Amino acid sequence: MLFDLIVEKLPGHDTSGIVGNVNKKAGSTVKYNDVIFTIESGKATFDFISKYDGVIESLSIEEGDTVKKNQIVGRISGEKAADADKNPTGAEGSKKTSYTFGLAKPVEKTYEVDVAVIGGGPGGYVAAIRAAQAGLKVLLVEEDRLGGTCLNYGCIPTKSLINSVNVLEKITDAADYGIEIDSAKISMEKIINRKDKVVSTLVSGIEHLLKANKISYIKGKAVVLDEDTVTVKTKSEESIIKFKNLIVAAGSKTFMLPIEGCDDKDILTSKELLELSEIPKSLTIIGGGVIGMEFAFIYQSLGSKVNVIEFCPQVLGNLDNDVIACIKESAVEKGIRIYEGARAVSIKTSLDNSKIVEIKVGDDTQYVTSEKVAVAVGRKANLESLDLDKLNVELNEKRNGIQVDQFMRTSNPKIYAIGDVTNKIQLAHVASHQGIVASDHIAGKMVPMNYDLVPSVIFTSPEVSQVGCTEKEAANRGIDFITGKFPFSANGKALIMGETKGFIKLVAEKSTKKIIGGAIVGVHAADMINVISNLIDAGTTIEHASHAIYAHPTVAESIHEAILGLDKKSIHFVN
Ligand code: FAD
Repeated sequence: MLFDLIVEKLPGHDTSGIVGNVNKKAGSTVKYNDVIFTIESGKATFDFISKYDGVIESLSIEEGDTVKKNQIVGRISGEKAADADKNPTGAEGSKKTSYTFGLAKPVEKTYEVDVAVIGGGPGGYVAAIRAAQAGLKVLLVEEDRLGGTCLNYGCIPTKSLINSVNVLEKITDAADYGIEIDSAKISMEKIINRKDKVVSTLVSGIEHLLKANKISYIKGKAVVLDEDTVTVKTKSEESIIKFKNLIVAAGSKTFMLPIEGCDDKDILTSKELLELSEIPKSLTIIGGGVIGMEFAFIYQSLGSKVNVIEFCPQVLGNLDNDVIACIKESAVEKGIRIYEGARAVSIKTSLDNSKIVEIKVGDDTQYVTSEKVAVAVGRKANLESLDLDKLNVELNEKRNGIQVDQFMRTSNPKIYAIGDVTNKIQLAHVASHQGIVASDHIAGKMVPMNYDLVPSVIFTSPEVSQVGCTEKEAANRGIDFITGKFPFSANGKALIMGETKGFIKLVAEKSTKKIIGGAIVGVHAADMINVISNLIDAGTTIEHASHAIYAHPTVAESIHEAILGLDKKSIHFVN
């Protein structure tokens, strides 16, 4: 049987502790009473013992992590010991060890590697694996959790929440499909626990991949000593890492608005929005970009009354107007209130603890009141986490990211920078690909980074995706173009699924008849955009693309219809 490993108890009134030695890992066989890891709480260290005989399937904690009471830290398959419940897993009931942190002197260790990678996010860990695959000796340093922002606080947890919301919406609409259900009950605790489980499984997967690729991994903060050396000091080890090449993949951090009240401890960021134990009655999100809009749909569907305040004339302003209109219509239908062209001026707290956001719309001053306020106005490159001067690495012109060339080399040719820290395009798949380009270059393969075909996806309801040239961009660049558009309402599979909102739109160059861009708003938009990427990448013409056969009945047939629509010859729609 499968069991969750849960921190059931911590001593006294403690609600959290720090993970000390981790004795077991995913795949370890354990017996009842074996110490899986230790938890430092106050001045003493306690054992987290196994209640089971079995094999650990996953373990999401690492030395230095904070664990909370009732947190699920992994999974084990096996049998529970008969008297196991006498000892709640965690501190109390288990043995108090004599070891106390801080007293033993860290052991000094020196590593000499071909490539050191700082940061274990989707940029860093992918770069490390790619370099190791090329036969290089690689070491990766991560101060927080493997997987970085993407796995722990970004892409994955948000999409896990969105998936729970999708289930809720299907249940709510079940009667439309002939299924009578009395009512759906939301357990925020279970939604968050499920999200944590998904994250833990993926984090342990990365740990496994690092081991399988023989990459040394140190958990701790990398500090630059000089152009050839970084050090990492943990409680047990002081590591000196000498490298031939360094890849800086230090990521980004939440940007907070410099306005009155924004530094209030109650103001939420995307990180806290992923951990709320209760659904706020009302929520104001400052920032109508990708992150802000995803959270707006999540919390509105969970029952909050959501307001979105966007400084620009439109939310999701980089997209084409017909795409924005479709997503705004859906937002308004769900009850999300959107304030556009609105500048947040201050956030104040009223006597009943609710928050009041003062906004300026033109010359008009308005006040938006809600139980909680979150700020989602973008992220800034994590430039302070390393001494870049010591590395002799320069910033870009705007001084908001590390300057890199097409091979991800910085101004210091042995040092590379990838991912959000370069502030090129802050997306996980861009970070990962930059990692591949950097590691290939170190291994002697010169393939430059190409940003022309970066798909972007917004997991609103319905989903939105975009790749290549938008209609707006084609017009701005003076390209003579044509468009082909196909609505999901005319697609059989979308109708079966009850997902008829939205459309697929393709942009092609009139003279060459080559497809140069595409946008999807609607069901499966996130997955289908990759097909359009491939069409553009291959330089496919309308004629060529129109002869590909798409399986029936599928939503993807809409791509084919949009291709035909470029010549005004869609079969199931009158263009
Ligand atoms: P990060 O993932 O930020 O990783 C950098 C790592 O470096 C961190 O773990 C940090 O602890 C470590 N580090 C920094 N300094 C040091 C040091 N001195 N020593 C040791 N370690 C250090 N992108 C998408 O493509 N799709 C999405 O759906 C998506 N959703 C998102 C949702 C949210 C709420 C957020 C916040 C972001 C989302 N993103 C999404 C963006 C995506 O998470 C980032 O673009 C991606 O994580 C960047 O990867 P990275 O490797 O550059 O940096």
